[in-house]
Amino acid sequence: MTSARTRDRLVERLRAQGIRDERVLDRIRSVPRHIFVDEALASRAYEDTALPIGFSQTISQPYIVARMTEALLVGGPLKKVLEVGTGCGYQTAVLAPFAGKIYSIERVAGLHLRAKRHLKELQIGNVLLKHGDGFGGWKSQAPFDAIIVAAAPLSVPEALLSQLAKHGRLVVPVGPERRQELILYRRSDKDGFERRSLGPVSFVPLLGGTI
Ligand code: SAH
Repeated sequence: MTSARTRDRLVERLRAQGIRDERVLDRIRSVPRHIFVDEALASRAYEDTALPIGFSQTISQPYIVARMTEALLVGGPLKKVLEVGTGCGYQTAVLAPFAGKIYSIERVAGLHLRAKRHLKELQIGNVLLKHGDGFGGWKSQAPFDAIIVAAAPLSVPEALLSQLAKHGRLVVPVGPERRQELILYRRSDKDGFERRSLGPVSFVPLLGGTI
């Protein structure tokens, strides 16, 4: 159920859906997604679907993780990356080898702690996790070469755009539930941004405050 063949099938599916970056496909194949979910769901860990992780949240769908990672990697090597919505840490683990350092914020304490455990288990050391509200970004560590947001705000938070480095990229789902679009921003200069839609998506909402 968690075998090499099951993982290969997932990768073939992502390839068929248009994921082209072999580095990303290899990484999806090698990250053990089954350790991030409850044992009862482990047999479904290599299906291309979001799965519950408690606290009304979900582990991101592999296709979406691959699509977002691919979109951020187009610009070359990433020194500093900000992630908003660590969840159980799966997306963080996929992204880790492509970043110098990842700064990741999660508003639910129980998930923040779980992500910490998973990333330690996988011996991923280039990640700094924080329990907090990511609406305001992580000012003391800005600017970032890339920012990835794993939950959907109604409109893109200004603070996140302002914490992008020159030529930095921000990938964020924007809009009300069931009518969200995945948007890729690229900072062209101090005040200028290019904006491109990567298509319709379905994410949990970005919420304020911490629990
Ligand atoms: N990519 C993650 C799953 C993300 S689900 C994974 O692979 O597991 C989205 C996460 O964003 C949830 O854990 C939710 O609690 C978190 N979240 C929502 N609003 C947030 C905010 N304002 N700041 C930080 N995290 C937030």
